[in-house]
Amino acid sequence: MGTVSVLEKLNMKNCCECGNEVPEIVFKQNDGLCATCAQKAAQQSHLSKPGCPMCDGKRYINFVWAGSSAARYPELSKYPKHIVRKQDLKMGSLWECQICHHKWYLDYSGSTMHQVPKDREEILDRWSAKPLKLSPELLKVLAQIGATPPDIFGNHTNEIVVPCRVQTKEGVVFDPAIVSFQRLPPIEYWQKNIHLIDEIETIQASESALPAEVRVATSEADEVRMGFAPTIVLAPHGTRFCLNWTTNLFIHPTIKAGSIRVAASVRYDSSIQHVSALEADVARFIGDWQDELVSLRLKTKTPRRPSPFKLISTGPIS
Ligand SMILES: [Zn+2]
Ligand SMILES: [Zn+2]
Repeated sequence: MGTVSVLEKLNMKNCCECGNEVPEIVFKQNDGLCATCAQKAAQQSHLSKPGCPMCDGKRYINFVWAGSSAARYPELSKYPKHIVRKQDLKMGSLWECQICHHKWYLDYSGSTMHQVPKDREEILDRWSAKPLKLSPELLKVLAQIGATPPDIFGNHTNEIVVPCRVQTKEGVVFDPAIVSFQRLPPIEYWQKNIHLIDEIETIQASESALPAEVRVATSEADEVRMGFAPTIVLAPHGTRFCLNWTTNLFIHPTIKAGSIRVAASVRYDSSIQHVSALEADVARFIGDWQDELVSLRLKTKTPRRPSPFKLISTGPIS
């Protein structure tokens, strides 16, 4: 150990900013600064760079714009200088960065700015142009299927989601599909197959949708470790599967979703097969949020927390 400390001593430098001793390797990495001063400098250079998170390198897909939580993120305070209002939409408003001309959407609450992906500008226009509501007949079918509740952490609080089979007015069948009455317009980048509910002709139950009691159980699942909120379910013949977080669908070559039940014993072991329904690719039909549609949701035992806010950073966006 003595030898090591002598070697380290030989390789120390002084931070050009504060004068504190730093190992030479850190000094070189940070262009002559200690880690603390380097971090301060990075923050300064970010603050002095004009633009929005799309063009200043931050890569947030949403961020706090106003309201009580804005004070918790002082680094965001420069954006109102560069992002300007273009027009009001059906709900919320459209904004644009004056530097890179990327579009931003200020949501229903007026507190959060959301990035509008380039390929969503057209559907955002269509979404805003008219009310998107379903006939009472179609709502009746959705009520029979039941909307999957938000989870206990408040994720999905701002959408009312029903897994189903949809046939469009053009005669195209989407099975499974998801009907979503939501407060946000169709701008969420992870959803890859977006439609509006005015395209819908008929709705039926889908053979890929999990039974109501299984969907409710997944929405009640607790997070037992980071990113893992399991529900153990049982197929006929006793095969067990593990679903993670709120789950609408079960797609399997031989096992029908309708035959899945919640397992009586929740004991978890590593032999249980994990199934994740990749809902990103499932056709999603977006309609307008209406408070009375909350009644479509299946009943739950546990109260839900308010919707959580997370600053989400995406890395490079093409
Ligand atoms: Zn320093
Ligand atoms: Zn920009």
